Amino acid sequence: MAVPKKKVSKSRRNMRRAHHAIPSMAHIECKNCGELKRPHMVCSHCGYYREDMPVLADASAEK
Ligand SMILES: [Zn+2]
Repeated sequence: MAVPKKKVSKSRRNMRRAHHAIPSMAHIECKNCGELKRPHMVCSHCGYYREDMPVLADASAEK
């Protein structure tokens, strides 16, 4: 079985992971309430996925 030859130091491991951060660009305005949300995700503020598609139960009760 293939095994790493040398231990990866904390420094080298962290340098590799320096590129793993999610950029702040990965947010869009929610069409329903205007809050910033992740694209293709249900809005955590109002619970809507699209304007016509409430997902959470308490969000649909507001109508
Ligand atoms: Zn929203």
